Amino acid sequence: MEPRTLQEAIVYFADPVNCREYVVARRWRNGVVCPRCESDNVAFQEKYNRWQCNKRHDRRQFTVKTGTIFEDSPLGLDKWLTAMWMIANDRNGISSWEIHRAIGVTQKTAWFMLHRIRLAMQDEKGGKLSGEVEVDESMIGGLSRFMHKDKRERVITGTGGKDKTVVMGFMERGGRVRAKVVESRTRKELQKEVREHVEAGAAIFTDELLSYEGLDADYQHAVINHAVEYVNGNVHTRSSLINSV
Ligand SMILES: [Zn+2]
Repeated sequence: MEPRTLQEAIVYFADPVNCREYVVARRWRNGVVCPRCESDNVAFQEKYNRWQCNKRHDRRQFTVKTGTIFEDSPLGLDKWLTAMWMIANDRNGISSWEIHRAIGVTQKTAWFMLHRIRLAMQDEKGGKLSGEVEVDESMIGGLSRFMHKDKRERVITGTGGKDKTVVMGFMERGGRVRAKVVESRTRKELQKEVREHVEAGAAIFTDELLSYEGLDADYQHAVINHAVEYVNGNVHTRSSLINSV
């Protein structure tokens, strides 16, 4: 559940169980794991609102706050999550005064929270994409994947694309989306971008463009043939990238 208004957010995050579930759903998409050893062999201790890892090591107990920006803060998750919700849901940029009024902390504390959250959000957006990443390029003025194969080949490999802007899109399945304007669609340029934005070892899905050949040494590479649009196990054509670019 995602609160839709500030009032809803305040009411929702006032409940510690809601806070816990909200963080768990975002932090551990595939189930809770120990922040220290990453084992999923963990037991929830309801009475203490915490988990205990069943592997042998120090500090086996942890909460949703462990290893996050909230960990060493005396402020409750109700305040942190409401403030985060406000920042994430305000297009014009929220001020520390608004946070101060909404959650009842001093303006100075609100200012500190605001900065900490903004830094954390930057970190989250930065870094390389991982897991399964779809890579696509398109030219502004006509998306290559919607072209007929003949035209597409002419445009892509011929001179047709030279004076158009090439946009490279990266979509992490179930995760982040990025778009970047690139100089050209040469092998050197496209592969440089892949290496810059995608973690080595990740599975990448690209179209048949020759420019991506040679990435196999560092990535699990699957090719999507848009012209045929076949579905082959994990390889499938994408949908949401277009809307994001
Ligand atoms: Zn552990």
